[in-house]
Amino acid sequence: MDLKLDLSVAANYTSKSQIARVITEKWVSRQIYCPSCGNPALNDFANNSPVADFYCNNCRSEYELKSKRILLISEELLMVLISQ
Ligand SMILES: [Zn+2]
Repeated sequence: MDLKLDLSVAANYTSKSQIARVITEKWVSRQIYCPSCGNPALNDFANNSPVADFYCNNCRSEYELKSKRILLISEELLMVLISQ
């Protein structure tokens, strides 16, 4: 599993929420396996399903992707902030 996000897929977007959605959808479609049955790939719904974003060809499980802005902070930086 490649944990790097391909930022180039969002080159034509300006909205931060759209950028997050496009980048994470592409990453999931390439890197995530089905957590229900272990199938090595999920498929995306071609027509923007209102209830799900991805499905598994093997077990028919459906998944919705939620992208959220979060702050990542390293343990080292946290210790510096605490000590000040
Ligand atoms: Zn499955």
